[in-house]
Amino acid sequence: MDSNSLIFKTATELSGELESGNCKAVEIAQAYLEQIDRVDGKVHAFLHRDDDDFLAQAKDSDERREKGETLGPLDGIPVCLKDVISVEGQPLTAASKILQDYVSPYDATVTRKLKAAGAVIGGRLNLDEFAMGSSTENSAYGPTRNPWDLERVPGGSSGGSSAAVAAREAPLTLGSDTGGSIRQPASLCGVVGMKPTYGMVSRYGLAAFASSLDQIGPFSQTVEDTALLLETISGHDPLDSTSYPTEVPSYSEFLKQKHEPCTLGLPKEFFGEGMDDEVRTAVEKAIEFYKGKGYEIVDLSLPTTDLSIPVYYVIATAEASSNLARYDGIRYTSRSERAENAVDVYAKSRGEGFGEEVKRRCILGAYGLSSGYYDAYYLRAQKTRTLIRQDFERAFEKVDAILTPTSPTPAFKFGAKSEDPISMYLSDVYTISTNLAGLPGLSVPCGFTESGLPIGLQLIGKAFDEGTLLSIAHDFDRELQFGRQAPNLED
Ligand code: GLN
Repeated sequence: MDSNSLIFKTATELSGELESGNCKAVEIAQAYLEQIDRVDGKVHAFLHRDDDDFLAQAKDSDERREKGETLGPLDGIPVCLKDVISVEGQPLTAASKILQDYVSPYDATVTRKLKAAGAVIGGRLNLDEFAMGSSTENSAYGPTRNPWDLERVPGGSSGGSSAAVAAREAPLTLGSDTGGSIRQPASLCGVVGMKPTYGMVSRYGLAAFASSLDQIGPFSQTVEDTALLLETISGHDPLDSTSYPTEVPSYSEFLKQKHEPCTLGLPKEFFGEGMDDEVRTAVEKAIEFYKGKGYEIVDLSLPTTDLSIPVYYVIATAEASSNLARYDGIRYTSRSERAENAVDVYAKSRGEGFGEEVKRRCILGAYGLSSGYYDAYYLRAQKTRTLIRQDFERAFEKVDAILTPTSPTPAFKFGAKSEDPISMYLSDVYTISTNLAGLPGLSVPCGFTESGLPIGLQLIGKAFDEGTLLSIAHDFDRELQFGRQAPNLED
């Protein structure tokens, strides 16, 4: 098959081509490597590639298929991972200088599950250092560019994962979402991105940022592909005590069934000021679409979600300051050459190894946890977090899912927010409350601005009700397919 046509296919389509013998996994792998060669000089989604290993995995898949031992629909399909998810024998930098020489000694649980499903694991994808940011400008190895406009950010922190799918450098990728880091870049790059319920996907082998908020989740062109990847990586894992012992249904089978239209809620706090006009118009059109399909649309209020950003920045930084204490110049990390004594080893290694945003957060977090301030900041933030969760619980007594924009604006220009942390933090104003409440949320492309920048629609679901959430998103995506449009990256 023509390699140029392969890279535009969805994972589900590629799987069909493999099954009907129209192409080989090695051809698919080669087609993506050629595309990465063609466009990644501009996009910079990848931090590291191991082409020999990638092709060897594809060859193994072809051999399995010849013997009739195929492992399932993802067998032979490339999946690339954000550079915070461990793959045995491959580097993991978290886009930080402090981990520049680190090689993972084991597989993350998601990696193990992907390998067991026959997926062909590709290169390492760029991000904001330790997943802290909304633009990938905080990567120590240079930013990723938005494939729709190379002057603009791809969003973050999983900007490499969203840009790689948008630039057709991979059909599927994984990212992590602590406050919006899957959904916001998906929205800015015009692809589907999903954060599962907290506890749905094991965090074992994920470099931790804020452990009570972090979740791994998929990126793809379509909701159908997201369902396929989600069911592969989900499920209880004894190695992650916060992973939940729940049954994982086959979401892809569930999407094939007929579903009655249900009730969607519009929280008034998410439709106020600060939203770009073109984002508002695109989201309103999506609401009309759902009405036309027979969905009931109701207004509701999530009053405490107005406090999500301050609550998040107290809790996430507190957890980060504790999680990142392990990078100490002794374990994992490179050690400062200027260190002359034990204290120097810590101070100089961390001082040289961490970027500005990571340092800001470690300091903020340690401050919020320190004696005398703990009650005023950390404890209060935790109590407010409970109120935010209760807002959602009340809303879900009346509605099946909540509909909002994913991001207040389309992709912004490099430098537009990087000097002002607060304006950058506001990029996640619609996504953060979902993490605080532990709920599943996804962003599905819902249109473009006049200048051709993608816009995303966010749907938030009930805990562990990923099936309903995906089926609502699929109703829209199956017909409108905005994520199937690809940017033009020719010179
Ligand atoms: N942008 C948010 C932050 O900087 C969220 C990051 C994330 O979800 N990893 O913390």
